[in-house]
Amino acid sequence: VLDVRGLVKHYDDTPVLHGIDVTVGEHEVVALIGSSGSGKSTLLRCAALLEPVTDGQVLLDGQDITDPGVDADAVRSRFGVVFQAYNLFPHMTVRQNITLAPRVVHGVPADQADARAEELLARVGLLDKADAYPDRLSGGQQQRAAIARAVAVEPRVLLLDEVTSALDPELVGEVLALVRELAEGGATILMATHEMGFARRVADHVCFLDGGRLVEEGPPAQVLGEPTVARTQQFLRRVV
Ligand code: ATP
Ligand code: MG
Repeated sequence: VLDVRGLVKHYDDTPVLHGIDVTVGEHEVVALIGSSGSGKSTLLRCAALLEPVTDGQVLLDGQDITDPGVDADAVRSRFGVVFQAYNLFPHMTVRQNITLAPRVVHGVPADQADARAEELLARVGLLDKADAYPDRLSGGQQQRAAIARAVAVEPRVLLLDEVTSALDPELVGEVLALVRELAEGGATILMATHEMGFARRVADHVCFLDGGRLVEEGPPAQVLGEPTVARTQQFLRRVV
């Protein structure tokens, strides 16, 4: 369970998040929506300790990971993070990309990491690309490989930041299908997305951020279908 409490983030003296509370329960998928600059990526980065928190707490399975005493590297290794583009190491094959963290960070024996990589690649439909370098893959294939790599360490929480926004529309579907499959398989996911249709189909809970504040949240059908806050209504009129 990921529990973000009263999260405040300033860049220099500029407040970007004003006290956000978000909980992602076990096997739950929470979608962050909102305009560009509303703070979605910042929230994801702070949650994974990729960015220092100004105030508030982030609890992972009850442990306050923002406590200065925690081992930040150990905490980071419990998150799987995928950003919108350029996720794969270009000088490594797909297989090497996927087995690196399990072997180096988690001490999984090479043959075991390799078997797991093949299993994941089969699942994302890329087994035939295992030994190819990323520049030989289409954008959608690269993003599926990047997600497979994030999943390979069996993260407690998967953080996905606009994983489809750098893709051609015809490739979006294959990545969305993969995330949906992971969600159905019981992954715990916090994701930022511009795809309202995706949020509606995959998320259990949707949070609308506006200017660094969480202004409306609830089940997708409610937030996306019958929003009660004027700002949410305005936002949805523009994006849908
Ligand atoms: P988008 O939909 O465009 O991805 P977002 O909701 O992810 O937007 P953020 O990237 O979290 O928004 O940015 C929130 C605010 O923080 C913006 O005003 C942005 O300019 C600012 N910001 C983000 N990263 C930094 C940084 N490293 N230094 C200073 N300001 C930043
Ligand atoms: Mg962003």
